[in-house]
Amino acid sequence: LRRMSMAKNSETVKVVVRCRPMQKKEEAMNHEKIVEVDVNLGQLRVRNPRAQPGAIMKTFTFDAVYDTASSQIDLYDYTCKPLVDSVLLGFNGTIFAYGQTGTGKTYTMQGSPEPEKRGVIPNSFHHIFTHISRSQNQRYLVRVSYIEIYQEEIRDLLCKDNNKKLELKENPDSGVYVKDLLSVVTKSIQEIEHVMDLGNQSRSVGFTKMNERSSRSHAIFIVTIECSETGLDGEDHIRVGKLNMVDLAGSERQSKTGAKGKRFKEAAKINLSLSALGNVISALVDGTSTHVPYRDSKLTRLLQDSLGGNSKTVMVATIGPASCNYEETITTLRYANRAK
Ligand code: ADP
Ligand code: MG
Repeated sequence: LRRMSMAKNSETVKVVVRCRPMQKKEEAMNHEKIVEVDVNLGQLRVRNPRAQPGAIMKTFTFDAVYDTASSQIDLYDYTCKPLVDSVLLGFNGTIFAYGQTGTGKTYTMQGSPEPEKRGVIPNSFHHIFTHISRSQNQRYLVRVSYIEIYQEEIRDLLCKDNNKKLELKENPDSGVYVKDLLSVVTKSIQEIEHVMDLGNQSRSVGFTKMNERSSRSHAIFIVTIECSETGLDGEDHIRVGKLNMVDLAGSERQSKTGAKGKRFKEAAKINLSLSALGNVISALVDGTSTHVPYRDSKLTRLLQDSLGGNSKTVMVATIGPASCNYEETITTLRYANRAK
């Protein structure tokens, strides 16, 4: 039943929610668990910690929900694998992790090195290179770029001079692209993991009251897969698919983190691209909108060719189960719900 309710693969936008386990710190402070996850129905129920006992819980339904016991490979196989399969066929796709700082965006996208804790990005490497090693008549070229958008400025995480700001350009043939962006050819899982590690080391992190290492930037890992095959006509046919995997900046509202001055401006810009992204996705899902507002932020401009059209999109919204995060959890679920 669980697998059936997740098999909506033909849809272009899939929205799923993952709830991380309670943290020791939250348990030590006696915060209650206020989120119930119904994997079979794809539903989440959230209890307002200030409501009367027995009050009705808010219910949200998504394409799939992942509870605190969900494994990395389950999330990859049921939610992300179909998208990566379509990239291997020459389509574009984007996988996002959206949520408050500390709810598991980086855990979901990156994870840690133990095989069972590998996140979406390294699991996609295994999937892609396994597919390539089994292919008989196709030749593949896999290229990687890794960028960060911080305060509407783009930096190349693979470039030694990672303080250089890159420009977004547009041309009639290739559409929107990042000028001077490095693109590294990788031939194996080890090589692509190495490139990812280098980029991760140069990702900028900030400090807020809420979380000592809260990410204030959007990190976008881009894998371009080119496949060439000799057709029955004797000609070479090339298809190119692009996979974007995005660890978004924390979605928390600034009042809670006590941000002032520079931090406040930073937060306003972060929220600008998150709200632009929400607007683009809800326009796509709506289907009747004649205008999709890609141009409103660097993030949405950059991903324009991989959101909508023939592209598939997966949004993984991450939440925590504790009562202290009630407001942020509701805000995240509303954002994700609007994207549906
Ligand atoms: P974010 O990137 O959203 O700020 P992190 O991915 O850093 O959050 O997660 C915060 C903490 O919670 C980390 O210690 C992480 O290992 C842990 N965590 C997050 N999601 C899960 C999960 N699904 N299962 C187990 N631990 C998790
Ligand atoms: Mg993070």
